[in-house]
Amino acid sequence: MFRFPSDLSIQVKVCSPDQGLDDSLDGNVQSFLIDEEQLHTFDDLTKVNPVTPTTVLKCLQARYSLKVFYTHAGCTLVALNPFQPIPDLYSVDVMREYHYATQPQEFKPHIFNVAEEAYRNVQGQLEPVNQSLVVSGESGAGKTWTSRCLMKYYATVAAAPPAVRSQDTVERIERRVLDSNPLMEAFGNACTLRNNNSSRFGKYIQLQLDRGQLLVGASVQTYLLEKTRVASQPANERNFHIFYQMMKGATDEQRKEWNMAPNQRFVWLPNCEKQIEEDSFHETVEAMVHLGIKAERQRQIFRILAGILQLGNVSFCSSTNESQPCDLDELSEVYLQRAAELLAVPAEELQMCLRVRMLKAGKQNVLKPCSQAECGVRRDCLAKVIYGRLFEWLVTFINSCICADKSKWSNFIGVLDVYGFECFHINNLEQLCINYANEKLQQHFVSHYLRAQQEEYVSEGLEWSFVKYQDNQSCLDLLEGSPVSVFSLLNEESRLNRISDSKTLKVRLEKELSGNRNISWDKFSQVPHFTVTHYAGKVSYQIEGMVEKNKDPVPPELVGLLQQSDNPLLHEIFVDQESGIPNTKGLSKVTVVSKFKNSLENLMKLLLTTAPHYTRCIKPNADCRPLSFKEKEVILQLEACGIVETIHISAAGFPIRIPFKSFLLRYGIITRCSSAGRIDPDVDSTSILQQEVEKLLGVALQHHASGADRRSLVHCGRTKVFLTQPMLDLLEDQRMNI
Ligand code: ATP
Ligand code: MG
Repeated sequence: MFRFPSDLSIQVKVCSPDQGLDDSLDGNVQSFLIDEEQLHTFDDLTKVNPVTPTTVLKCLQARYSLKVFYTHAGCTLVALNPFQPIPDLYSVDVMREYHYATQPQEFKPHIFNVAEEAYRNVQGQLEPVNQSLVVSGESGAGKTWTSRCLMKYYATVAAAPPAVRSQDTVERIERRVLDSNPLMEAFGNACTLRNNNSSRFGKYIQLQLDRGQLLVGASVQTYLLEKTRVASQPANERNFHIFYQMMKGATDEQRKEWNMAPNQRFVWLPNCEKQIEEDSFHETVEAMVHLGIKAERQRQIFRILAGILQLGNVSFCSSTNESQPCDLDELSEVYLQRAAELLAVPAEELQMCLRVRMLKAGKQNVLKPCSQAECGVRRDCLAKVIYGRLFEWLVTFINSCICADKSKWSNFIGVLDVYGFECFHINNLEQLCINYANEKLQQHFVSHYLRAQQEEYVSEGLEWSFVKYQDNQSCLDLLEGSPVSVFSLLNEESRLNRISDSKTLKVRLEKELSGNRNISWDKFSQVPHFTVTHYAGKVSYQIEGMVEKNKDPVPPELVGLLQQSDNPLLHEIFVDQESGIPNTKGLSKVTVVSKFKNSLENLMKLLLTTAPHYTRCIKPNADCRPLSFKEKEVILQLEACGIVETIHISAAGFPIRIPFKSFLLRYGIITRCSSAGRIDPDVDSTSILQQEVEKLLGVALQHHASGADRRSLVHCGRTKVFLTQPMLDLLEDQRMNI
């Protein structure tokens, strides 16, 4: 099968666009038009006929039972998680097979043919085009695994051959890029109920290629680390891996330094007994060494982390006298002392900052003792701000040692691994942000692919019965639109600093957004909330605590204290390096949603400049059991990512588009031997070119298709020919046989 190097390289099966969009999961597989036994053979879901949620599901299930985990869905790759290592599926030999194939698309669907296609597309037909590989799916579906596979692929196929390598630094760049993974995962991943190695941040990694397409560097951008996890872990979940790694892997000397006996209990370290693969301290330290984090720096990092753990064991007793600060019991005194020592700040000042608040009264500062609850909030806040800044520092450091000089690279392939859509029993600001990010990505997908495809048909004057697709603009307007939206109201409440902010937020949301069909309320619910209809389903968000989370306040006393730290790293991350001026970034009035919206908008702008490739990871069962496929769970995910619509639009369309001139240049030979006469590809007038193309198509199809058939195979637009793959194959055949 020949593939014209078009802007869209998707396979095609012509089927009626009005077939089966509304099919529900009734389990009646008898109604298939295709033989059920053949289902596993469809390596592209666009070949399934009819395309319905049930047929798509059954096809994926049939393949999964035969251990076939990848299937194309038009322009998207569907990846099913096997939940067990599959020998040889990702070996270097397999990478080479895809890389050196003349037509990698003809190989079985695999994450490597997506990788290879992106790699080849960087050298676009006219000019190089940056590529983005967007990996999505719910927690535990396999996004991070897939991203790692992609990085390994490029680190292998795009590595400079030994003879070309001149300097030591160049030699090790692939290794360093790969080493950034375990390091970032140690600090940013945690064991959750859904995934033992759940990423608690989003990331976009740009793999930088030089003119010869060799990997010369990379840079990482991260999004919204779930730093609350440092100080509070949901029931049966754990803190970030790094703490457990330290706990399990420390040497005796380190234990002594950190005051961390093997049987020591830390409040912020629940479920310590659970053995998980990611608990490898050794691997993390090795990655640090490879990335150039010196021993002394490592020591500073671990002392900060140990200090955080000690801080978590400090608890406060309520004070009998309101004018007096809360007391600490004897044990808490010890932990506070240790925390202060490890964080290298004066213990008395730490104690003071946690228990006494500084208020501004006119030009004067007034000290006010905090309540027991407030003391706890301040302690947690201290841990969160330290961990958040430490993570930022780590990412900056990683970038400084893997990012190539701009003069050395010309193009990039970006890999996006962001948290999937979330709907828990209780959802708050974190889920609102995550689901907003997913709405943005869905919009990118819809606008960049589906809408662009349909709009091109219109502008080219093609008749087209539009496939209905879910446009999520109204949901995005609800969340981020202007002048009034959920975010604008949330930000206003955060700025106003009212005491009863949850109540007022609820009232304002109801009053100002009640006309919007994407938001609703259950008037009888005890807990104030609002429900958003996302493209992937409805999610109820709890209003309580949302304003506070959005403000994410850091008391200036705490920052002031950390700026005095004798731990050089802690000092550095709270003081602006260049100016030496206290770094008050975390104190500014920029809210969490504003910051997140901003970084997401930048990401979207960047994505729009690249050619996207989508991979949808699917989690076949919620228990992470090997090779178990739960229909209900899979169908929900297929619906959530709109896979059926994607297949429909891919299948019903004409994915290959060739400008008239290029078309005539390649296939003109067919008519040179026929009565249509010689075609001059130098002719410039579009209408003349169009007539010539029509003539050529008439000749090519004269023995093959009636008028109706012809319309399902090929269309002549205003400037381009739109073809299906079978039509392209037919033309190629005729061209070769002349
Ligand atoms: P989260 O959103 O929670 O970060 P995720 O989508 O990134 O989830 P992963 O961590 O990539 O999920 O995958 C979860 C687990 O599934 C992995 O730790 C691994 O055990 C298994 N897994 C995923 N993909 C594969 C694969 N292709 N082959 C074998 N095992 C896999
Ligand atoms: Mg992940």
